[in-house]
Amino acid sequence: MNEHTNLSQFRQSVDRFVRERLPADLRQTVRQGQQSTREQLIRWHEVLAAQGWLVPHWPAEWGGRDWSVSQQMAFDEAMALGDAPELNSVTFDMIGPVLMRYGSPEQQRRFLPTIASGRQWWCQGYSEPNAGSDLASVVTRAEREGDVYVVNGSKIWTSYGQYADWIFALVRTRREGKPQEGISFLLIDMKSPGITVRPIVGVHGWVVFNEVFFDNVRVPVELRVGEENGGWTVAKSLLEFERLKLARIGENKRRMARAREVGLSRWREGRRVADWPWYRTRFADLHARLIALEANAERFVARQMAGEKIGPEVSMLKLRGSRLIQLWEELIVDALGSEAAPLSPDWLLNQPGATSQDALAGTASSRRFLARGYTIAGGSSEIQHNILAKQVLGL
Ligand SMILES: Cc1cc2nc3c(=O)[nH]c(=O)nc-3n(C[C@H](O)[C@H](O)[C@H](O)COP(=O)(O)OP(=O)(O)OC[C@H]3O[C@@H](n4cnc5c(N)ncnc54)[C@H](O)[C@@H]3O)c2cc1C
Repeated sequence: MNEHTNLSQFRQSVDRFVRERLPADLRQTVRQGQQSTREQLIRWHEVLAAQGWLVPHWPAEWGGRDWSVSQQMAFDEAMALGDAPELNSVTFDMIGPVLMRYGSPEQQRRFLPTIASGRQWWCQGYSEPNAGSDLASVVTRAEREGDVYVVNGSKIWTSYGQYADWIFALVRTRREGKPQEGISFLLIDMKSPGITVRPIVGVHGWVVFNEVFFDNVRVPVELRVGEENGGWTVAKSLLEFERLKLARIGENKRRMARAREVGLSRWREGRRVADWPWYRTRFADLHARLIALEANAERFVARQMAGEKIGPEVSMLKLRGSRLIQLWEELIVDALGSEAAPLSPDWLLNQPGATSQDALAGTASSRRFLARGYTIAGGSSEIQHNILAKQVLGL
């Protein structure tokens, strides 16, 4: 049996699993394009963990299955098309692998099994009001007092901080010298006295972001990952672990399926939307871009599987994958026309006779606004362009 046959059989078993085991309420939430609650997500994590599919890309030593990148990508795609929610990459693709590489044996034993069980939620405390693309400018400070750091300052844009049990944060432990050489990486319990989480309601109407304030928060020194002032190396490695995922192939295919569904079910001036030339041209254009993105991602996957080093050119996957999601969401909104106008899906759903189709339309504008963030988070498109220009093209 060749690898292709194996992968397609594997994909079918994932399809069946997600059809049978994804809780109905969560499937509905995702289908309707709404935000899932922490409780819904933790329940789903537990189902996946029982199957051994929550962290299959992790090594077996830590509860994973040593899956290859191509198997992981096939899995992600089947999950997205089966209306499963996106998993919290901060927990499973960032802090988990960071602890495997840089954590002390005690930190690994303490956190990795709990993360692999799906019951612990992490958030990322990197950005600050004046430190985003220029991350080395972080000013949240941690002053050493014996065996603890006392942390003061604030973080912003902390995604799903309201769900989180723990935060990993970049803090300044030295003010002199190069800014990158005075940063440490701390693991902080969100229940610590002195932490305040203030939600930010986004333009989409949902709380995704938060501000996190630290007021004399005491963090034991043993919760520092890596050396004091050596946090920059740990911080940068995070993005390495999810680089291929940033093409977001599965998430793009999910959007394509929605765009098709909307085009086929909506009518404009006596004609199906899918029959209008403007819709057909745009759909074909985006579909072609998706095929090209997938082919590109497969090239990188093949290189990685052959043990070759992947260089900065992988930035193109993030650049293209995130922009394509926005273009699908725009097509969905345009295909829905005035149906996509309400920014209040909950109100819509409470109307007599409302269907999940109405809800999907009702959340279309919110999702389009949400997608705006994809070209900013994880390194903005301008930063990706800079990387490609300088490091790949040598400009
Ligand atoms: C959806 C989403 C989720 C996020 N989640 C988290 C999270 O969980 N934790 C966290 O810590 N942060 C998170 N962030 C924050 C994110 O990391 C920052 O928004 C991002 O790094 C950009 O920083 P900034 O917002 O300060 O913008 P700035 O860095 O101030 O950039 C402003 C504009 O200037 C451009 N720019 C900046 N520098 C250059 C340059 N050198 N050359 C050319 N153009 C440049 C940028 O591309 C952008 O258009 C999230 C952001 C989004 C949108």
